[in-house]
Amino acid sequence: MSADLTLEKPHELIRFDNVTKRFGDNTVLDDLCFSVKPGKHVTLIGPSGSGKTTILRLLMTLESPEEGTIRVNGHRLFPAAEKERREARKHIGMVFQQFNLFPNMTALRNITEAPIRVLGLSKDEAEERAKGLLDLVGLGDRCDARPTQLSGGQQQRVAIARALAMRPQVLLLDEVTSALDPELVAGVLDVLRDIARSTDITMVCVTHEMNFARDISDEVLMFDSGKVIESGSPEKIFSDPEQTRTREFLGAVL
Ligand code: ADP
Repeated sequence: MSADLTLEKPHELIRFDNVTKRFGDNTVLDDLCFSVKPGKHVTLIGPSGSGKTTILRLLMTLESPEEGTIRVNGHRLFPAAEKERREARKHIGMVFQQFNLFPNMTALRNITEAPIRVLGLSKDEAEERAKGLLDLVGLGDRCDARPTQLSGGQQQRVAIARALAMRPQVLLLDEVTSALDPELVAGVLDVLRDIARSTDITMVCVTHEMNFARDISDEVLMFDSGKVIESGSPEKIFSDPEQTRTREFLGAVL
C-alpha cells in the first residue's frame, strides 16, 4: 500500500456543512449544505436577498458563519485557527461587481502588486505572469494604461487577470457584469468563457446572465431563503425545473 494516499486531492474542493449565517434576526443562510468538486463550474441563481453573495463573502472570510463548517481543499475555513484559515483562504480568488482597481497604478502594476507582496515573486517574474494574463483577457497592449484610461469592461478584465495572478484553485465571480454598460458585457463574459474552457480552475459564479450560466456551468444551484431548493445540470434547471419557485424565478428573469 502506498503512503502517497495521504497526498490524494480532496474529492470536494469546497464543502459547506450545516452552515447558518444570520444578520441580527435575519437568517440569511439556513443550515446550508453543498459542495463543489475540483475543476467544476457552479452557478448560484435565485431571487435577490436569497444569500448567494453571502456564500462568496464567507469563502473570502469577509463574513463568518454562526454555525456549521466550511472547508476549502480539505482545510477548514470555519471554524478554524488563523493558520489553517490562511491555508484554506489562499486557494481562493474573487472578482467583485465593482472592479476595485488601484486607481493610481497601471494595469500591469495592479496585477503584480499582490504576487510580489504576498507570494514573494520577483518583479520580473510577476511582470511576466501579469503580461501573460493581460494577453489572456485581451489587453496585452494596455499594460501601461491606468484604470481611468480603460472602459468598465476593460477594467473588469484587468480585475479578472489580477485575481488569476494569485493562481487560485477557485475563482469566485459575484455579478461581475452588473455594473457594466450593456455593450461591454459580452466582452467580459467571452473572457470568462475562455478561462472556463482553457483552464482547470474551479468557478463559483453568482450571475443574472442566464445564457452565460447555461454555457459555462456544470451545475446550477437554485437558492431561496438561504437554502438550495433545487440543483442540477443547466439543461435540467433551465429547461425542466422541478420546483414551482424555480419556474417562477426563471419566468421572471429569462
Ligand atoms: P443575494 O446575493 O442572493 O442577493 P445576499 O447574500 O446579498 O443575497 O443577502 C442576503 C440577505 O442578507 C439580504 O437580506 C441582505 O439584506 C442581508 N445582508 C447581507 N449583508 C448584510 C450585512 N452586512 N448586514 C446586514 N444584512 C446583510
